[in-house]
Amino acid sequence: MRTHEQPATDSDLADTLHARGQRATSQRLILYRALRELDRHATADELLRASAERLPNLSLPTVYATLELFEELGLVRRVAVEAGPALWDPRVDPHQHFACRSCGRVIDLDVPARAGTAMAVARAAGHAPDSAQVVVVGLCRDCAHGPADV
Ligand SMILES: [Zn+2]
Ligand SMILES: [Zn+2]
Repeated sequence: MRTHEQPATDSDLADTLHARGQRATSQRLILYRALRELDRHATADELLRASAERLPNLSLPTVYATLELFEELGLVRRVAVEAGPALWDPRVDPHQHFACRSCGRVIDLDVPARAGTAMAVARAAGHAPDSAQVVVVGLCRDCAHGPADV
């Protein structure tokens, strides 16, 4: 199976869904496209609003269920932020995150830091880890330096 590759088109996504025995409903295609178009870490609620025009009858539980399916299929990642609603990441290639404790922004860190040690310790303790994420918490560049001088 291909990894870290995002389906670029609806038909690629349909292929991915079909390959895993899932139906490629237009709702799924539209939601995935909406997340790609947002092009950032989004909450289910933001995704619902972004798709409202194309899917007027869409409900929040459906968005959650769809995102969870996408996660299972490796199409999105759930960012391990400590507080607030779950954030969903359309980028599935290896990268980590910086979470600002002031403005709440979550920013990609382009470092393929493998949390290998944590995974190994989890395995040694008898757990069956799926993945590990690094979330660096602090003040983002904007918050750390304050507003521009007036
Ligand atoms: Zn900030
Ligand atoms: Zn990210």
